[in-house]
Amino acid sequence: MLTRDKTAPLVEQFRRYLRDRRLPVTKQRIAVAEVLLGSEDHPSVDLLRQRLEAKGLHVGTATLYRTVDALVKSGLVLEHDFGDGFRRYEPSTPTVEHAHLVCRRCGGVVEFANERLARMLRMTADEHHFHYERDKVEIHGICAPCRARDLGSAG
Ligand SMILES: [Zn+2]
Ligand SMILES: [Zn+2]
Repeated sequence: MLTRDKTAPLVEQFRRYLRDRRLPVTKQRIAVAEVLLGSEDHPSVDLLRQRLEAKGLHVGTATLYRTVDALVKSGLVLEHDFGDGFRRYEPSTPTVEHAHLVCRRCGGVVEFANERLARMLRMTADEHHFHYERDKVEIHGICAPCRARDLGSAG
């Protein structure tokens, strides 16, 4: 979890975003923003709902989806589709650019940052006379804990 100090200004930005567009600034929307902007993992909408419920906050499905959508449009949240049938989200302000390892067995997502890889992607863009803006790297496979479980059950 991000500390409150880091999350609060982001929530404030979202509040401003809603106000500027004359969208309703409700307690529920702010609660969704607080939970999502305070996440350090890649929750799905279902997981967000569970986290809200755990705090005793009930947010309707339509409001939940609409709020997450607004957070993505505001640029405060990144949307990922790791190909496991649902979308996942994360605050778009990680301190380092990172790529993702996605486990197809447990759906776990691990982040990694690799400077050499980042340089290589920029060089590749250059070689194609392509103006680099951003990249998105995903490695799909089976994570170490799942592999260990496989090996355990095989023996
Ligand atoms: Zn796994
Ligand atoms: Zn991530």
